[in-house]
Amino acid sequence: MTRNRQILLMSRPDPALGPTEENFALVEAPMPRPAPGEVLLETLFLSLDPYMRARMYAGANYAASATLGAPMVGNTVSRIVASEAEGHAPGEIVESAHGWQAFAAVPAKGLRKIDPTIAPVSTALGVLGMPGQTGYTALVRHGRPQPGDTVLVSAASGAVGTVVGQTARELGARAVGIAGGAAKCAFLTDELGFDAAIDHRAPDFAQRLAAACPEGVTIYFDNTGGPITAAVLPLLAPEARLLVCGTVSVDRDRPGQPQSGPGMQELLSLALVKRLTIKGFIYTDADLMALEPEFRATVSAWVRDGRMRYREDIVDGLEAAPRAFLGLFRGANFGKLLVRVAAE
Ligand code: NDP
Repeated sequence: MTRNRQILLMSRPDPALGPTEENFALVEAPMPRPAPGEVLLETLFLSLDPYMRARMYAGANYAASATLGAPMVGNTVSRIVASEAEGHAPGEIVESAHGWQAFAAVPAKGLRKIDPTIAPVSTALGVLGMPGQTGYTALVRHGRPQPGDTVLVSAASGAVGTVVGQTARELGARAVGIAGGAAKCAFLTDELGFDAAIDHRAPDFAQRLAAACPEGVTIYFDNTGGPITAAVLPLLAPEARLLVCGTVSVDRDRPGQPQSGPGMQELLSLALVKRLTIKGFIYTDADLMALEPEFRATVSAWVRDGRMRYREDIVDGLEAAPRAFLGLFRGANFGKLLVRVAAE
């Protein structure tokens, strides 16, 4: 390899359209060279995640916008191909955050070494990476599930949702998932051991959801917002915890789009009457990061002994990233969405 390949963010989304493939461009670039203290990385897997949509816009968010003309932001699992840093040798596999590109020269400090004997290295971006950590730490810290609880999670067949439901089950709670389509729902009940799974596209979704939660929902792990959340609200039990993890069904940067989620007064009245706790969080919050060692030890052990199962949706080739990324917002992915940029 003498040239690098990158996918650049070329323009901000038009709020009338939302993100499109035209916002990105695939380019060739000179091969980077590591400076002292740096390593040259070859990307094996690139993670595609819902948070990237908000980064494409210029508006305020909990993290900075992606830079126009630069490789789109993203986490990778990469192989060190050259090293100018002590303690790092070619061949090592690391997690990096160098974005949508085939090679990058980055400071070695801050890279997370991945142990390929625990599980396939791709899992460092899914069940054993940021999404798994989010699901485990937020459910344990803010949901505090116990036997007798009904834990309901939306986008349940995805990277975060699968970990939430299986963690709830491991802690003795009842796990109910919401997913799009019969195949995803069957996967949740038949392969992951969820107690029930409901298709949010079914015409009688609200009735089926109510039937699946006869004693109400004590913990709702909300990955979607929008109409799904509106259907869940009447099912919340007294003292329920509503954990706001993400709003994948709502593009928060498109103010003009019709909002079909709950009205504000409806939500506040319900919070009052039912004494709800509504907790938003980002996985980097200090109280969640404090649980990172527990997450690594517990979920790695569950993965090793088969109690925590996972599914990956891998597309091939860096050039496939923009289209696959946009599919996240239509439910086109089935499992943790990854791009295989180079062969292991
Ligand atoms: P997933 O792997 O679950 O992929 C996204 C899924 O969202 C799709 O497969 C689809 O599933 C569902 N979806 C997309 N559009 C809609 C829609 N309009 N209505 C209903 N469902 C929809 O993604 P992740 O597991 O990586 O992320 C899940 C959520 O967690 C996201 O909201 C993300 O932003 C959030 N998150 C938050 C973090 C935090 O720190 N707070 C950290 C990591 C993730 P289906 O086909 O079942 O509808």
